[in-house]
Amino acid sequence: MTDEPTWIPVAEPLLAGNELKYVTDCVQSGWISSLGKYVRDFEQQFAAYCGVRYGVATFNGTVALHLLMLTLNIGPGDEVIVPSLTYVATANAVRYTGATPVFVDSDPYTWNIDPQRVAEAVTPRTRAIVAVHLYGHPADMDPLRAIADTHGLFLLEDAAEAHGACYKGRRVGGLGDAAIFSFYGNKIITTGEGGILVTDNQAWAERAFFLENQGRYADNPYWHPEVGYNYRMTNIQAAIGLAQLEQIDTMIARRRENAAHYNRRLAGVPGLTLPPNADWAENVYWMYSVVIGDEFGLPRDEVRARLRAAGIDTRPFFYPIHTLPMYQTGQSLPVAEDLGRRGINLPSAATLTPDQIDYICDTLLTLAGGKS
Ligand SMILES: *Cc1c(COP(=O)(O)O)cnc(C)c1O
Repeated sequence: MTDEPTWIPVAEPLLAGNELKYVTDCVQSGWISSLGKYVRDFEQQFAAYCGVRYGVATFNGTVALHLLMLTLNIGPGDEVIVPSLTYVATANAVRYTGATPVFVDSDPYTWNIDPQRVAEAVTPRTRAIVAVHLYGHPADMDPLRAIADTHGLFLLEDAAEAHGACYKGRRVGGLGDAAIFSFYGNKIITTGEGGILVTDNQAWAERAFFLENQGRYADNPYWHPEVGYNYRMTNIQAAIGLAQLEQIDTMIARRRENAAHYNRRLAGVPGLTLPPNADWAENVYWMYSVVIGDEFGLPRDEVRARLRAAGIDTRPFFYPIHTLPMYQTGQSLPVAEDLGRRGINLPSAATLTPDQIDYICDTLLTLAGGKS
């Protein structure tokens, strides 16, 4: 026994494989910038994991999204449909280009963008729909594909939270016309900071590579026919990423076991909605998330405070982006707003132990019904 107070974090990386070995190789060989074999290997292998041909690695997920918008020539006067309930980067990447993000409400079951609301949001200016696979559960892609095809729009995936999740048996990242992922420290696999754009479209992959390399072609280092960007991933990041990718199946399996354990313990608690897992979906539970209803007996923020006092870290759901100061539209998106007020991400790391999950569930069950 130790007297260390309990502290169970929401997220924590698992760096149990060849990470140190590959990083050491970078340092010892001197290949620490974005030139180096790990970057190209990581791009190829991660794209293949998603079932597509091309990957363009970036230094974080946000710039991968920006790069994707630039690659598709999205800019001023264009509209891009995004869910309001997502991480702010989804909208920011649209805004960086001068285009307008158009916010759409969530489906009450999957918490993802509601295809019916998407159809209503299409205008003559719409260029693309971004499906976000929130907290690890895929968005319902087929109806989105139908809308995109009807109106000639790009269907894009922000898969930053859902590496390895499946929709009707197919992995995210290969479901839309192109996708991005993040490899931030708390994501399903990590490179510290990092991101990637994946697509089957060779012309887009080449364009993205050109733009992220300061707008130049490989054969002429200082000829820049356009304003470009330096959004490249380093070899050190890719070395960590490759080691992580070797372990992705184990990491996802652990998250699923943890979610099943939570589900067994928390099923049937009045006022507690457990995370979605539609019959067409395989959730990877980036976050094990619950929604606190009135019947639970305590408001969301009080539940969070009591968990924190018991040494259990949590996060609230995202504020719907249409309520943030720079994006306020005066819209009413009731499902996203309600989820944003009631949702909690419980500790979700692949490193979580069964004992920790039992402790978290015991604590939550004591709070249920207003008892404490
Ligand atoms: C994490 C995340 C991003 C951005 O990734 P960074 O690597 O942090 O820039 C984008 N979209 C969503 C939905 C995310 O969760």
